[in-house]
Amino acid sequence: MGEGAEARYGVLGWPVGHSRSPAMMRAAGLDRYQHLPVAPEVFADTVRALGAAGFRGANVTIPHKEAALAAADSASEAARAIGAANTLTFGADSAVAAENTDAPGLIAALGERIPDTALVLGAGGSARAAVWALTRAGVDVSVWNRTPERAATLGVRVVAQPHPADLLVNCTSVGLDRSSMDFKDLPLDADGLREYTTVVDLVYRTGGTSLIAEALRRGVHTVDGLEILVRQGALTFTLWTGLPAPLDDMRAAVRDAG
Ligand code: NAP
Repeated sequence: MGEGAEARYGVLGWPVGHSRSPAMMRAAGLDRYQHLPVAPEVFADTVRALGAAGFRGANVTIPHKEAALAAADSASEAARAIGAANTLTFGADSAVAAENTDAPGLIAALGERIPDTALVLGAGGSARAAVWALTRAGVDVSVWNRTPERAATLGVRVVAQPHPADLLVNCTSVGLDRSSMDFKDLPLDADGLREYTTVVDLVYRTGGTSLIAEALRRGVHTVDGLEILVRQGALTFTLWTGLPAPLDDMRAAVRDAG
């Protein structure tokens, strides 16, 4: 793969040991891709040093996505509009460029199923990326969040209760750390999932989430969090290497890494 394979890459997070990005990006051919656990207080200094240490790029995960944008010398329109970056690229002069591939990754995962209407659950960083991406794609977007004041900052319609839509996107962290989700933390009941044509869950966990399982049980088209992870990773891979991403190898790697 030339320069792309010899350069160093990694994923910045705190903690980050759980991240499946190293397995996914190594499967794509970036052999020198590693976990980069970095505490918030040294994040900006670490980012400034990575280019000189031989790094060509880094993915960024919780809690650093906003700090990554702030630490960069330049940023794409998407990263600036969303206020967060999940991808940093280090230039020959160690200049740091910020990008957000979470947003186009969601659109890529939907394929030809771009909806007319969408309900986004959540108002954190991933919800901001989803709202920006969907709005830009011409979708009529509403947002529900546990803390409605936070939802009001996203610039689209805030709803107190879910309503039927073509697409439901879970951008909350509900479903992350329990073996069975009973929907009590979200304003949804399992049968109500029939009101959506497609359900996307950004959360992923070994064995899958209950939201995806209940939607599938009702014949609803689903996109799970691992596919979202692969799609944003594929866009990052192409940004760094200029090559098409080996999607199937990346999918196999993230599923095996669980
Ligand atoms: P974040 O900025 O911390 O936002 C968390 C959101 O979850 C907030 O809207 C919060 O509501 C809500 N929430 C947390 N606990 C809740 C509960 N018990 N009941 C109802 N709502 C609750 O996180 P994020 O970066 O947006 O990420 C959200 C999830 O998406 C995480 O699980 C993350 O791992 C996942 N994710 C996956 C991918 C992927 O590639 N698959 C990419 C990005 C994120 P409040 O505002 O009321 O606190």
